[in-house]
Amino acid sequence: MAIQVCVRCGEKTAKMEACGYCNRMLCRNCVKSCRKPSRTERLCICKDCWSKMETRKKYKAVEKKVEEEFEPRDFGRPRGRRRF
Ligand SMILES: [Zn+2]
Ligand SMILES: [Zn+2]
Repeated sequence: MAIQVCVRCGEKTAKMEACGYCNRMLCRNCVKSCRKPSRTERLCICKDCWSKMETRKKYKAVEKKVEEEFEPRDFGRPRGRRRF
């Protein structure tokens, strides 16, 4: 897997997520949250877009058909429903 550099914080990582709103490739630290509206779709929002009310509202309106949300800074404390 190729190592890429996050355009937001400069972090080098092999695990990048694309923000569904600004379309940048970002590391997990810069991604606020991800949702799967369906089995094939995956939608992530970065922290910049999260801080904008309009984008955040759009993200919150995305229907969660598949429950999968992660909070990168909250790994030790899972909250909400889990699928396992
Ligand atoms: Zn980053
Ligand atoms: Zn974004």
